[in-house]
Amino acid sequence: MGFNCSGCGECCKNLFLTKDVSEQFKESVQTLLSEFPYEIHNGICEKLKDNKCTVYNERPDICKVDEGYKYFKEEMSIEEWYSMNYSICKTLQGGE
Ligand code: SF4
Ligand code: SF4
Repeated sequence: MGFNCSGCGECCKNLFLTKDVSEQFKESVQTLLSEFPYEIHNGICEKLKDNKCTVYNERPDICKVDEGYKYFKEEMSIEEWYSMNYSICKTLQGGE
């Protein structure tokens, strides 16, 4: 089992929205964003090219749903974490 990412790339193009959606977990998210190593232009990560991550194997924890859970495990179960992330994906993809 693991997070089922479709690879749509929307999270890489909406880093501001991701920040807003995660407001309720502000401290943990701010820590992760403060360590984000790449430039963000209008919400788009500079490492996204042709809708693909060009540093996929070296991408930071904030880009990995499964890895990112370690920062939130005191706050929710893994099922709740996945559910929240699927909801964010759906919002970013224009689902609701
Ligand atoms: S928005 Fe969700 S499904 Fe799309 S690339 Fe990001 S994590 Fe994967
Ligand atoms: S480092 Fe890669 S996975 Fe992370 S936001 Fe940038 S393009 Fe997306």
